[in-house]
Amino acid sequence: ILTLGIESSCDETSAAVLRGGRTILSNVISTQIPIHQKFGGVVPEIASRKHIVNIMPVIDEAVRQAGVTLKDIDQVAVTYGPGLVGALLVGVSAAKALAFALDKPLIGVNHLEGHIFANFLAEPTLEPPFMALVVSGGHTALVDVRGYDSFHMMGQTRDDAAGEAFDKIARVMGLPYPGGPRIDALAKEGDPLAIDFPRALEEKGNYEFSFSGLKSAVLNYINSEKMKGHELRKADIAASFQHSVVEVLVEKAFDAVRRAGRDTLVLAGGVAANSGLEARLRERAKETGVRFFYPNRILCTDNAAMIACRGYYQAKHGDFSDLYLNAVPGLGLEERE
Ligand code: ATP
Ligand code: MG
Ligand code: FE
Repeated sequence: ILTLGIESSCDETSAAVLRGGRTILSNVISTQIPIHQKFGGVVPEIASRKHIVNIMPVIDEAVRQAGVTLKDIDQVAVTYGPGLVGALLVGVSAAKALAFALDKPLIGVNHLEGHIFANFLAEPTLEPPFMALVVSGGHTALVDVRGYDSFHMMGQTRDDAAGEAFDKIARVMGLPYPGGPRIDALAKEGDPLAIDFPRALEEKGNYEFSFSGLKSAVLNYINSEKMKGHELRKADIAASFQHSVVEVLVEKAFDAVRRAGRDTLVLAGGVAANSGLEARLRERAKETGVRFFYPNRILCTDNAAMIACRGYYQAKHGDFSDLYLNAVPGLGLEERE
């Protein structure tokens, strides 16, 4: 069975073809990062326009690289939320048009579930149940994945997402968008213990996150250093900030693994590309005998292969959408039985 996946929730236009649930035939990603960089963040109106220009060429290229034709596609999976409404609508409209024209089923996919399912593409032996730490641009959550269609929410962020904090602090330090990879690179040259930033909600048994306090502490530190006329020690700031984020994520993730009685932890979302986070999780996994998987860089950040993968498993459960499918910008991760 061939699944065409389509993703356009933010600043990547992507299309992918999957054979079965786990074999990637193509995964074409057209990123708009260089276009948004000069504005220091994603400009929604520009994103929508670029998606409109790119969507059909990207789909055509995905089908071509897969060595098939549109007529061979058995089902169409598309991200319908969360994301920017104008951006989402481009993918949703294209998917509906294709499903209608080809007379094939349509599957609306939650982008965040897609991030989790990227792990099935990265690791062929992975099967539920397992714990997933979702750390993306807009979301931070611990999800107990009990089955392909059964998710239990352990906890989410009360305020900012981890990725948001990375991007905001990078911006204040004058680093280009997106800030996460820049902070990651700078942190390698800094001392993680140089500055003692707070770690939020550290109590055990609490799986909620909060990064706004840490973000404010770092911003206050930067401002007071600037006022004092000090040269900013950017590498130390990056390393200390990243250390605070990573320690909280690692503690809570392993606490959740233990609480739920799981033997496997997976990492999902764009911040999963963070080398400090990945290294600490790997280390703790080794110490505790927990299996740990994370997708490679391409599969961590936004891509359509993960959407096709999620769509494939939804279709197996008969979870299809009709042609009234609409974009839901504020869609969250939800409990599913
Ligand atoms: P969401 O998935 O919540 O809707 P999104 O799709 O915009 O949001 P992703 O594409 O999943 O987010 O991830 C992008 C985020 O990942 C950005 O905040 C970016 O800074 C962050 N990121 C990417 N690479 C790294 C890295 N190496 N270290 C830290 N953060 C990173
Ligand atoms: Mg992106
Ligand atoms: Fe994402």
